[in-house]
Amino acid sequence: KVRVRFAPSPTGALHLGGVRTALFNYLFARHHKGDFLLRIEDTDQTRYVPGAEEYIIKSLQWCGLKVDEGVGTGGEYGPYRQSERKDLYKQYALQLVASGHAYYSFDTAEELDNYRKSCEAQKETFIYNATTRIKLRNSLTMDADQVRQLLEAGEPYVIRFKMPENEELHLKDIIRGEVRFHTSLLDDKVLFKSDGMPTYHLANVVDDYLMKITHVIRGEEWLPSLPLHVLLYRSFGWTEVMPEFAHLPLILKPVGNGKLSKRDGNKMGFPVFPMQWTDPETKEIWHGYKEDGYFPEAFINMLALLGWNDGTDKEIFSLEELCQAFSLERVHKAGSRFDPEKAKWFNHKYLIHKPDTELAIPLKEILESNGIQADLSQIEKVCGLMKERANFVKDIYNDSLFFFVTPEEYNEKDVKKYWKEESIPLMQELYNLLSKIEDYSFANTEKIISAWINTKEIGFGKVMNPFRVAIVGAAKGPHMFNIIEIIGKTETLKRLEKALN
Ligand code: GLU
Repeated sequence: KVRVRFAPSPTGALHLGGVRTALFNYLFARHHKGDFLLRIEDTDQTRYVPGAEEYIIKSLQWCGLKVDEGVGTGGEYGPYRQSERKDLYKQYALQLVASGHAYYSFDTAEELDNYRKSCEAQKETFIYNATTRIKLRNSLTMDADQVRQLLEAGEPYVIRFKMPENEELHLKDIIRGEVRFHTSLLDDKVLFKSDGMPTYHLANVVDDYLMKITHVIRGEEWLPSLPLHVLLYRSFGWTEVMPEFAHLPLILKPVGNGKLSKRDGNKMGFPVFPMQWTDPETKEIWHGYKEDGYFPEAFINMLALLGWNDGTDKEIFSLEELCQAFSLERVHKAGSRFDPEKAKWFNHKYLIHKPDTELAIPLKEILESNGIQADLSQIEKVCGLMKERANFVKDIYNDSLFFFVTPEEYNEKDVKKYWKEESIPLMQELYNLLSKIEDYSFANTEKIISAWINTKEIGFGKVMNPFRVAIVGAAKGPHMFNIIEIIGKTETLKRLEKALN
């Protein structure tokens, strides 16, 4: 059975790239009717950020990515927070020491620093591995008694992986195909730290093993760790159950080179977080897709297409359809450029297909928060009429204010252009005409006003332009017959009268 995990470290808010990793894991799990796990990798206490874990859980919920097993959900392989599992890692580190795949290292930070400096002086880069470990203080260079004494005396130590010397590794990545690494370029990574905590590498591999993970899907930044992880599986004797690996391409900035960062979003005015995030240290507030008015379905759809497509030019997918269509083989090798305009386009596509009754609810909230009362049925009609040009509900609000409030001012330029001397008697006549009818439906007002204009043998614009200025306050908005149908007789006459006085 397919089992995948999203394994964030709670070192800050989850951004676009993180959510995409979660999404691809989720889609892969659903496609294969497998399990999607959430594991919190919080072994690095120095980087722990309060609130980050809750933020991650809430963000996944907002996106509609249901976790089958993990922190906040539970499950039979728990606990799923690494800090709560910390007692089990040491035995695995010791197991590797016993089998000769790892060793104790007693070098102090100062000693390592001095060694590094002496290497630099000789224009060499220091790397702790087969070529250098013989010169350092560790259980490979000391005799067994000495090591025992140091351990008994409580001397601080770390446990390092003994990177094999001179081996070329040909590893498989589902997205990239074969990737090669040479062990002489890799270092003896610390597996277990002097504070009694495992490092990411040890905890990650041990947990993937214990939690029966079948596929590791994660960001490209973890590709350099792949050889170590594969060697750990080998050293533990777990190659039979080793997961397959897939490293996802980077998400690139909209312009220029490099990885998309939260700063880019701030600078260019688009969110990079699913939901609002307040940095607990700096108190900086970062707005999110949710607060910006994105629908979670649109956000997810946009994200899925960042680095994946189904092989056709189809772009609009429901979460259900994404689960059906998704495969890791179709994930691109190259990074994908994030396009903030395209993100808006996705939201627009979802917005225009939402029922007006659904859009009316947030629009009513925006209106009320601006002190404007209107009834829901009127708001619904406005949504129906105005959504075609909007990306967000807030756009509908900005474009539709005149439906709900009588204009206080009239656009100067438009008045000059359209409200002529000759407009006044025409508007007067129009007022009389409109006060005689009760049925303000589009069809009826169109019929009556058009007939009247025809009898006058003047252009349509001569009437409709000043009429629009009077009703809307400016030369903008949808069809006049639509507008007066929605605002109704009383308001129409009131506005005409106001403009005439
Ligand atoms: N804790 C790692 C992270 O924060 C997980 C990497 C992995 O999925 O192996 O990205």
